[in-house]
Amino acid sequence: MSEVSRIQDQDIANILASFIDQPPQGVPAEVLDALTLIVQNDNQALPPKLFFEVVEHLAVAISITNTQAEILYANPAFEEMTGYTAQELVGKNQSILSNSKTPIEVYQELWSALLGGRKWAGVLLNKRKDSQPYLADLTVAPVFNAAGEVTHYLGIHRDVTEMTALQKKVESQKAMIENVIDLAPVMIALLDENGKVVVENNAYKVLMGDMGGREPAHEFMAFMGGELGDSFEQLKQKKKNFDNVEIRVDVGVNMGTRWFSCSGTWIEVDDQPDRYFEEQRHRGLLLVCTENTKRMRLFEEAKTNAIKALMAEQQAVEGIREIVSGAIFQLQGPLNMVSAASEMMDRGVGDPSSLRGVLRQVQDAGKTALERLQACMPDSVGEPRMPVNPNEIVREILDVSFDRLLRENIVVSWKPTPVLPTITGRPNALRSMIKHLIDNGIDAINEPGATDRELTIVTRATDDDMIEIIIADTGPGMPADSVLKVFEPFYVGWTRRRKSAGMGLPIVQQVLNEHGGSLHISEGFHGGCKITLSLPVGPRESWDS
Ligand code: FAD
Repeated sequence: MSEVSRIQDQDIANILASFIDQPPQGVPAEVLDALTLIVQNDNQALPPKLFFEVVEHLAVAISITNTQAEILYANPAFEEMTGYTAQELVGKNQSILSNSKTPIEVYQELWSALLGGRKWAGVLLNKRKDSQPYLADLTVAPVFNAAGEVTHYLGIHRDVTEMTALQKKVESQKAMIENVIDLAPVMIALLDENGKVVVENNAYKVLMGDMGGREPAHEFMAFMGGELGDSFEQLKQKKKNFDNVEIRVDVGVNMGTRWFSCSGTWIEVDDQPDRYFEEQRHRGLLLVCTENTKRMRLFEEAKTNAIKALMAEQQAVEGIREIVSGAIFQLQGPLNMVSAASEMMDRGVGDPSSLRGVLRQVQDAGKTALERLQACMPDSVGEPRMPVNPNEIVREILDVSFDRLLRENIVVSWKPTPVLPTITGRPNALRSMIKHLIDNGIDAINEPGATDRELTIVTRATDDDMIEIIIADTGPGMPADSVLKVFEPFYVGWTRRRKSAGMGLPIVQQVLNEHGGSLHISEGFHGGCKITLSLPVGPRESWDS
């Protein structure tokens, strides 16, 4: 401020001070109050005009009323917001903006605050000059004079229509998303950059309960660290997403192991104003996990059954080996005696009576050997009968044989009839039957004269309540003269497979007999051999054992 203007300001202040001291008659009290305020502001650097200018330029609507709420002043922002000019407003009640939809209780609250000398803030539904409604975020405050009496009211309001609509939209969208996330049958959790779970859905909370309060996301991430080779921190650095990582979690003593398929996506999660201008965005990991426990349990069960079937077969082979070794040993004695007697006869030594004695000994030793062998015969393993799905049995054996089929480059054409009635039977015996027939098919394909390397397996139901399982290979086929012999124990017709016991088809025949089924051998679909098994549907009335 220049020297000249300071002197002028000081002069004005002196004149005002003497005017207030001895005011002329009839000067209104409000005028004296206003002048007093100006004089008291003498020490302040900002002149009152500046305050007026500020109010004029403010982007919020400002009005000053008398105690009857009649407008004395409205700033340009007020004019712009309401559509009225200052001249139209001055002298009118603020209720000019009132919209009949604002509940009367809101006005009562406003007025009870003002009459109590307090300020009030709230939202009203106003209407412009053109009757367009808008939401006003209003603050009203009483203005006191030096004697502490309310002389005016000050009103400040903003149009919050758009912001409120936006806010409502965001809120309703947020509620909708939260609902969807909560009701989703998958587990969803959002982890912040420090790995802390900041959002989780219901399914996640339920799992957390199942895990006795342990944080599922942390256990999943620890497991995934091993699977992906990256820790949470490394995934964050690389901004690396992941998809369908299979993990297993031991939930607790009562709940056992559970399996999940987890995907993770890094998303931007900034909502802090201080990060508005930052280049580097803050991220969170959205973890979505689907539970696969049911499927995995079925798979594990099938695997266990397959292992059991394999072990049973191995045991059966071991048993046969033991019996054959025992039989060899038992037959060795009588055979030695027969050789000794034949040598004696060749050399003409010994009289006929001693030879007869040797033959009797051979007879006795042979009888003892037979009795011992019969005593060694193991009882057949009792297996309960139950409803069996033929497709499932074939599928299990195909799973068990998968490695061999792959190794031997054999294509399997598996054509099950999707829905088949069940048969009642002994599942392991039926598995063993199918396994023998598939093994035979593979052996046949490895024989000279095989036309192709394909195994076709078909299941179907016939009109006479039978289930047919057809196993056809592309081997050289079965010569007509062997068709009956193949069911004899120890018959081996393979030229390439030396170590065969020749017990496969007799076992198949026995299982079929037990189940009231039958077998038919014919030429395959592409040459080779086609075996058609027929088994009766449903429970059987009588069982052999
Ligand atoms: P009214 O019948 O006038 O009032 C409704 C109820 O309010 C009455 O039943 C009574 O309980 C109470 N009331 C009204 N006037 C008084 C009073 N003088 N003393 C004590 N109680 C009273 N209203 C808006 O709708 N929009 C605005 O933007 C707005 N801004 C305002 C700004 C200021 C500074 C002030 C002081 C008031 C403002 N008002 C505003 C309130 C306005 O003055 C009216 O009270 C309101 O609009 C309701 O008017 P009405 O004619 O619909 O109903």
